[in-house]
Amino acid sequence: MTTPVFLPDTPDIDGAISDMSPIPFQELNVDEDLEVLYSKLKGDSVIQQSQQDHSTVSKHPGKESCSFFAQVEKIKETLSSLTPDVGLALQYLDQLQADLLTNELIQVKSHQDAQQSSLQVKTRETQNSLSSPSTSQASSSTSPNHTLLIYPKSNSNLTDLLNEELQPQDFHLTNIKPIKGKGLAISLKSSTDIDNFHLKIAGNENLKSLIKIKNPTKRLPSLIVYNIPSSIKEETVQEAMMAQLGLPIPLKIRFKFKGNSPETSNWVFETTASTIKTAQKIKKLNLGWSFLKISEFFHIRRCNFCQAFGHTTKDCNHHIPSCGSCADHHATRDCSSPFLCCINCYESNLQTGTQYPTFHPAKDQCCPFFLAAKQQYCSTRDYT
Ligand SMILES: [Zn+2]
Ligand SMILES: [Zn+2]
Ligand SMILES: [Zn+2]
Repeated sequence: MTTPVFLPDTPDIDGAISDMSPIPFQELNVDEDLEVLYSKLKGDSVIQQSQQDHSTVSKHPGKESCSFFAQVEKIKETLSSLTPDVGLALQYLDQLQADLLTNELIQVKSHQDAQQSSLQVKTRETQNSLSSPSTSQASSSTSPNHTLLIYPKSNSNLTDLLNEELQPQDFHLTNIKPIKGKGLAISLKSSTDIDNFHLKIAGNENLKSLIKIKNPTKRLPSLIVYNIPSSIKEETVQEAMMAQLGLPIPLKIRFKFKGNSPETSNWVFETTASTIKTAQKIKKLNLGWSFLKISEFFHIRRCNFCQAFGHTTKDCNHHIPSCGSCADHHATRDCSSPFLCCINCYESNLQTGTQYPTFHPAKDQCCPFFLAAKQQYCSTRDYT
């Protein structure tokens, strides 16, 4: 196994993990890899078949499913023999991949005509919660900005009170969760709904005297120190951080993950905006005979399988990988193309008519999709 190249500027969890250590999927050997791909393809065929009855979009869905099934069966047969012919299975897989790709392209065309189609679930752009960077904030219905925390002033039951006094249909409720102190976190669709809620409460003497409304506090940002040797004690790290960042107390550690070698790990701390500013000034943390990169850490999810933002590999519902380097349909680690093409920008240009430059890898920090994800993340953090 080759040691992955460490990119010090990697700001996101998935990207960081992929840069610094192979994700489990990548550690599989050829046979296991094929099995994973096979199971994904098998899943795909099953989905397609179940959609046959409802689909009015695809022109020949039955024919495609049958053909895919037959191909999957051939691969299964080849692999389950006593002496599996991996080369032949790979050939079949290539054929299948090409057919699926063709099918995917046909479906993408259809989606533009039939936006509400059930098949749309299968396209990568629908899973990308930030498919349109410029509107990402507006489309985020669960943003903390649209959530209110409500507490009862007395011992009364909040749900009963609300049921008696307010019609839920007057507000666009998206979620309600019980919270500490017998309160409720109420999520509404838009800021207009929030204003409406405030108005209704203010205009209702009974509710006004019985409940208390709070805006949810934003979460604190994070700081990352890269490649801390595992031989160094937590105390030593904390002491160095306190001294060099001017902290009165140690920062809370949020989590650690594997660094660029098995003997190191990256530590992510909860911090404040002013400490981030200090870290941006010092850039490196001195620990004995090492100077380690320290920077703000953005909790951004980007999928290493399809490259979309908003989910990670384990939650990906795509069946064919998209390369994070050249946008072709292969795993990024298998890329041999000298050309860079960002799949998110490319598809956006193709499907929504944007004109983003595409000559960058999917994880590029100047990519409009990364910037939108970062902006979205930052809007949930307290930088005051
Ligand atoms: Zn994905
Ligand atoms: Zn590639
Ligand atoms: Zn891009």
